Order: sequence, then structure tokens, then C-alpha cells
Amino acid sequence: MHGAINMLGLAKRVKAKILQASTSEVYGDPEVHPQGEEYWGHVNPVGPRSCYDEGKRCAETLFFDYWRQHELPIKVARIFNTYGPRMQPNDGRVVSSFIVQALKGDPITVFGDGGQSRSFCYVDDLVEGITRLMLTGDSCTGPVNLGNSSEFTILELAEKVIKFTNSRSKLIFKPLPQDDPRQRQPDLSRAKALLEWQPKVALDDGLKETIAYFKRTLDGG
Ligand code: UDP
Repeated sequence: MHGAINMLGLAKRVKAKILQASTSEVYGDPEVHPQGEEYWGHVNPVGPRSCYDEGKRCAETLFFDYWRQHELPIKVARIFNTYGPRMQPNDGRVVSSFIVQALKGDPITVFGDGGQSRSFCYVDDLVEGITRLMLTGDSCTGPVNLGNSSEFTILELAEKVIKFTNSRSKLIFKPLPQDDPRQRQPDLSRAKALLEWQPKVALDDGLKETIAYFKRTLDGG
């Protein structure tokens, strides 16, 4: 959040257009499904995820204050779960964790019963969406959801990863982290209308690319 203030001050001084890479986490554990930009969210202010969720929410507020007070050209993208080549193997996120575990033959760590859902966007689609957002006129501030609306449970993701890696890994179930959102799916109507954009890469294809990347990395290649 402090970083956001610094960057907003800099953008104001040099008269630059500025992007806030916001997040679906601003919706918290959502009570509406799918999540449209007009939904205010359902965030626990004092839980273990709160510093991230509330920090991002506060950053959005600051961006809109700078837009209102200084007419700074802002762009706010709410990015939903994104994956692809060049993820860090140990960043703890579900796609990278499952792929690395499957390739090593380690157990796949499913948190909770795996019935919670996420909608996974391939990195190239996200980059295209952000690029288009940056090319819009100054009146187009967002917030705008960027993601892929195809929704999968974590168990479905685990099964796909095992299948595409031909892994013999077994699933093990671990406790669900506190405040883990049950479901998440972007409503992409605004992105489609404003940016004439929609994601093109299906999860199966994106996973195969990502698996190929991790195979090369883990082989030391
Ligand atoms: N998850 C899991 N096993 C892991 C890592 C994550 O089952 O090894 C689950 C996690 O509980 C969540 C989902 O996968 O329900 C997505 O987690 P991630 O941290 O990738 O993204 P976020 O929760 O921020 O959407």
C-alpha cells in the first residue's frame, strides 16, 4: 500500500498512466457468483489473508482518489488466478505446486476436500488483456476483471495434472487454510465490452505448456 502511494506520487509528477495489478482477492470469500466488478466483496478484515486483501483494496481506493483529485490516468485490473511458464516452482500456488509434485512423484497436497473452485487464466491471455487495457482512453479506469471464466475444482485440477504428467503421485489431503475462498469465477462482461478481449487458452492446453516448462526447469535445462 505504501508502494502504491509512492508510485501514484511518481506517476502524478511525471504525468504517467499507471496500472494497478489488483486481484480477485478484493472479492474475499464471495457471496455472489460469478463476481462482477460492481460486487463490493466479502473480506475478513482481521484474518491471515487480510493484509493482502485489504492492502489491495486500499490500493484501489488510493488509485481512484488520485483519479478524482488529480485526474491521474489510472487503470485497475482485477487479476484472477493466473498460471503459466516461468512460475516459481516453490511459490506455494496450486498450479506450480501440483505440477512440481507430480513431476517428482511426490504426493499431491490437496487442501480441504478439494471441492473449492478456481478459474485459471493462462499468462498469455492475461498479458493481452492488460495490454489492451493500457491502450484504452483515459476515461476507461476500470476496475476490470481479467481472468478465464472456466471454473474447476481443485480436485479436477489435480486429476488433470496427474493425467498430463503421467504421474504415479497420489493425492494427500491437508487442512484447508483459514479463509480460503470456496469459489471464484470472474464475470468477464466488462472486459469483453471495453477491451474486445476474452481468454483463448483452455486449461488443458495451458497446463501442457506449463508442465513442459517445469520439466525443462527441473531437468536443469
Ligand atoms: N491449494 C491446494 N494445495 C496446494 C496449494 C493450494 O489444495 O498445494 C488450494 C488452496 O487451498 C486454494 C486453491 O488451491 O483453495 C488455490 O490456491 P492458490 O494459493 O494457488 O490461490 P488463491 O487461493 O489465492 O486463489
